[in-house]
Amino acid sequence: TIDDSAIRNITLDDIFISVKTSKHYQDTRLPIILKTWFQLAKDQTWFFTDTDNPQHQRQTNGHMVNTNCSDSHQRKHLCCKTSVEYDHFLDSGKKWFCHFDDDNYVNVPRLVTILQKYNHQQDWYLGRPSVNKPLKIYVKHTEKPPKTRTSFSFWFATGGAGFCISRSLAFKMLPVASGGRFISVCEGIRLPDDVTMGFIIEHLVKNNLTLVPEFHSHLEQMKLLPLETFRDQISFSYSGPKENVNVINVPGFDTRYDPTRFLSLHCFLFPHFKFCPR
Ligand code: UDP
Ligand code: MN
Repeated sequence: TIDDSAIRNITLDDIFISVKTSKHYQDTRLPIILKTWFQLAKDQTWFFTDTDNPQHQRQTNGHMVNTNCSDSHQRKHLCCKTSVEYDHFLDSGKKWFCHFDDDNYVNVPRLVTILQKYNHQQDWYLGRPSVNKPLKIYVKHTEKPPKTRTSFSFWFATGGAGFCISRSLAFKMLPVASGGRFISVCEGIRLPDDVTMGFIIEHLVKNNLTLVPEFHSHLEQMKLLPLETFRDQISFSYSGPKENVNVINVPGFDTRYDPTRFLSLHCFLFPHFKFCPR
């Protein structure tokens, strides 16, 4: 059932937007975000990184969080950052937790209008899987003989496309995920942080992922997204330029100046911005 009062109340201020980043990308990926969509959600967006950078701290008005997690792409260290993101959301008191990677472009107004359709007082795990069937894992039961293995299938939202979790659901995850416990679950099942999120929500908390197709990662072919639908999408991504370039097809700046296409995308969506041609 639809709760009208909850719907009318959601604004950008009710959303905690977290972006996972690293010192490896502070001179490449981060400046693009700071120049574009971050400008539309300065007070609501927080960056989770592994270094201290006074210049970025100033540019974000103190929104860079040094997680003290290692600067590596290893499962354990990525899980460490996700765990810190989740704990910060709990402390923020906000109604929605939305995670993105630093190679995402977030269409801020669209994120808000889509979340307005869901009640944060109910349990919602919103995102988009990158596989077409649920992940099947085997859980060992070692406590009592005979040693058995049971399989369990679950969906997870691709972290690289972004996903959102309502406060109500985040609360139910408290006993298994808060205070760094998320890292223990990650280590226990030996799977990446976004998969662990799906495992915790679908298996431990018993709440299903709701498919929101407007989230996009570079696991999809970005050039297949039609320009006419850009305004409706929540997130975009890119890969390259070093290897297999996968970028949206949008007119605008020269590809040498804007290889990720995010500056052009931003000007397509918000042509009045200072750096956009007019
Ligand atoms: N990342 C990180 N530390 C690293 C490498 C990556 O925190 O050593 C972050 C990165 O900033 C991004 C996410 O992990 O937000 C995914 O990284 P990337 O896009 O490089 O890899 P993918 O998983 O998409 O192949
Ligand atoms: Mn990526």
